[in-house]
Amino acid sequence: MGESSRVVIIGAGVVGASAAYHLAELGWTDVVVVDKGPIPATGGSSSHAPGLVFQTNPSKMMTELARYTVELYTSLDLEGGPCFLQVGGIEVATTPQRWRELQRRHGFANAWGLDSALLTPDDVAARIPLVDPEAINGGYHVPTDGLAKAVRGVDAMLRHAQRKGVRLLGDTEVTGFELRAGRVHAVHTTSGDITTPAVLCCAGIWGPKVGRMAGVSIPVQPLGHQYAWTTPVEQLAGAGDEATHPILRHQDASMYMRQHFDSYGVGSYQHRPMPLRAEDIPPAERATGAGRYAGMPSVMAFTPDDFAKPWQDACELLPPLADTKVDTGMNGLFLFTHDGSPVLGESREVRGFWVAEAVWVTHSGGVGRAMAEWLVEGRSQIDLRGADMHRYEHFQHAPAYVEARGAQNFVEVYDIIHPLQPMEEPRPLRTSPFYPRQVAQDAFFLEASGWERPHWFEANATLLSSSDGEPAYDERPIPGRDEWSARYWSPIVAAEHLATRDRVALYDMTSLAKLEVTGSGALRFLDGLVTNKIDKPVGAVTYTAMCDETGGIRSDLTIARLGEHHFQVGANGPLDVDWLERHKPTDESVIIRTITGGTCCLGLWGPRAREVLAAVCEADLSHEGFRFFTARQIFVGEVPVTAMRLSYVGELGWELYTSADYGLRLWDLLWAAGRDHGILTGGRGAFNAMRIEKGYRAWGTDMWADHTPYEAGLGFTVKLDKGPFVGRDALAAAKQRGPRRRLVCLTLDDPTRLVMGSEPVFVDGSAAGFVTSAAHGYSTGESIAYAWLPAEHATPGTGVEIGYFGERLGAHVGSEPRFDAEMKRMRC
Ligand SMILES: Cc1cc2nc3c(=O)[nH]c(=O)nc-3n(C[C@H](O)[C@H](O)[C@H](O)COP(=O)(O)OP(=O)(O)OC[C@H]3O[C@@H](n4cnc5c(N)ncnc54)[C@H](O)[C@@H]3O)c2cc1C
Repeated sequence: MGESSRVVIIGAGVVGASAAYHLAELGWTDVVVVDKGPIPATGGSSSHAPGLVFQTNPSKMMTELARYTVELYTSLDLEGGPCFLQVGGIEVATTPQRWRELQRRHGFANAWGLDSALLTPDDVAARIPLVDPEAINGGYHVPTDGLAKAVRGVDAMLRHAQRKGVRLLGDTEVTGFELRAGRVHAVHTTSGDITTPAVLCCAGIWGPKVGRMAGVSIPVQPLGHQYAWTTPVEQLAGAGDEATHPILRHQDASMYMRQHFDSYGVGSYQHRPMPLRAEDIPPAERATGAGRYAGMPSVMAFTPDDFAKPWQDACELLPPLADTKVDTGMNGLFLFTHDGSPVLGESREVRGFWVAEAVWVTHSGGVGRAMAEWLVEGRSQIDLRGADMHRYEHFQHAPAYVEARGAQNFVEVYDIIHPLQPMEEPRPLRTSPFYPRQVAQDAFFLEASGWERPHWFEANATLLSSSDGEPAYDERPIPGRDEWSARYWSPIVAAEHLATRDRVALYDMTSLAKLEVTGSGALRFLDGLVTNKIDKPVGAVTYTAMCDETGGIRSDLTIARLGEHHFQVGANGPLDVDWLERHKPTDESVIIRTITGGTCCLGLWGPRAREVLAAVCEADLSHEGFRFFTARQIFVGEVPVTAMRLSYVGELGWELYTSADYGLRLWDLLWAAGRDHGILTGGRGAFNAMRIEKGYRAWGTDMWADHTPYEAGLGFTVKLDKGPFVGRDALAAAKQRGPRRRLVCLTLDDPTRLVMGSEPVFVDGSAAGFVTSAAHGYSTGESIAYAWLPAEHATPGTGVEIGYFGERLGAHVGSEPRFDAEMKRMRC
């Protein structure tokens, strides 16, 4: 064929069509959309999706993507007919726990700016007369939810794009790629080759296969999911409209329902996971779906046995269904990921290979726009850190992991998930060298990025009663917790917190992402990416923000200059590696190496830290001899250590790094040296509470690319006069403009209460912002919550309310940090 184009979109489902539509809107019309099926009903997942769009999500990003999908689909028109039926959405509770969860979801909606309401059982039945009000505790209603008519939407979007110049190639399969110098050069198709510098893989369940053709790993898992139509429902006889009933979710039974004219559709996630490799999906000629799903390659034959219990549950909630039967059913295939979020971005290994996979219809409008913006403008207006394909740790690409986690996510899709809930399998996956000692102290482990991380140590229960002349921490008031916030918590957390501030403790910091940046160009390279000045003498450590071109915070880093051309970077995770690698000079002057796994780290923190370290080390540890925010190579006993005088918990102390082989010895030496000083081990629970008390931000939780350092309270890290760096011009303008919003520190009026994060914050009764991190400040006796608020409400003393389940908790904007604002404890 010998065609060429600026972008080739592979897949004309809801995602590919939305991307084509938005590329065309942004002026990129030299685009080809290729699909192996007939366009617009290609036989992919979008062709059979019942199209329920429930916008509410614990994730702000996912809610924003869904909200835009609704906006887009309501604006689409196909030959005078709609592409979205805005019937509203109702989620019902059949247990008290679920009713609480619906209150929490109402809170998310308030936090993310979505209109919603809680309904009584009778209110629900008034809107969906088939529902038995006796069967439910209540409902949660979002009036703007509804039904996306996926195939009509695809048709409307592609026609629009076509009118602007986008070309469509149906019945054409992509069979491979030509890569040149690590970049996409051409796409091979059954209709010939297309020369192009960029492809966008929107191939849905076939995505992993298409990725493998180019050598790109797309860690997603196709799984079967049941959906069935009933025979006509007597109460709906003569229904002229496709749907007037709100869409319905019955999460306690892992199910959802919608009206189809005079019958109902019932979807279930109750059954066993049914994984399938992308390569094993039968082609259209051998597709096993029946009835209205015949010939669709994304559909497997219905397995009625798996539907027996869900059907019973559906009839209990909607009794009139008991007079009907299953008319047609399917086991439809779609994608699951380890965390429920899509996989988006451009491969770093194969430049020009872009991915938009594992996207529900619900988020497809937003994702298509985001991908178009990313391609054309280099950045999406919605922050995509939670969906970026480079958020994955290396092990998360392992097929065994992808299948196990995909299946787990299928099982949990409607479960009530606590913010601290760890993955169940595979564990333990990554352990620090201190693990045996932690197990011996009866650590309660949670998991993050595959790492086992102690949350507290049962051995520290002794701190709760007085011993050895040390104070007993139950003599100070430790606020109790409600059932939800008490999960994954113990009063020992408070005791570890207080004992660290009184004595000294070891914290395992091994899971912190660590990079080594070396080479003759290392300084210039890093300096050009970060906001703070790092051209300082060897031994200096600098805390800095790293921003994108718009001044949004991509990460916060701690950079230690260990040699003229040698920097150790404390980072936040794989996204930092991606950002650095993409900006690295093309010559050989900079080498970036991830050293997280092979390097362990102990935080030795507390007022007695100097005495403990001095007992096993000959270095000058005095305040003058080893200054705050400096690093030195020392020996601890016989262990070579890079020591940095820093603390994320606001205490005197050091972060002690060594290679993993020395880890146990380092622990044992410090433990023995600390015995006379009442040394203890502290877990993440205490660590987190102390960092919040001290006002230290966590990237990804408290701030991200939506925020400038000025807004996030990190203005002190921005040195506009240091020379050029990414984001400088935008930050100069932002500084002049002044912050539009601020990350503020709230203290709750009732210090015994606690919130968890992602709750809405109300000013004068209206939702104005949301909580990021929260904890009890056990040293200050306060309940602290960080939150984003418009700048006009950020003045200390401003009264606000935080929505917590069905309650409104009073709070006030306070000065910060709440603990040791004079920095006396660290600089001594
Ligand atoms: C039973 C069921 C019910 C669902 N219900 C809902 C719901 O109510 N709400 C919701 O939000 N989501 C729902 N989903 C999920 C939703 O359907 C999918 O996530 C979504 O349709 C995926 O869209 P897509 O564009 O990524 O993939 P698809 O629609 O599958 O499009 C991918 C396209 O890529 C093409 N393709 C693949 N390989 C190649 C190749 N080599 N060359 C050329 N073309 C290729 C395919 O032909 C296909 O057309 C449901 C899924 C199932 C299975």
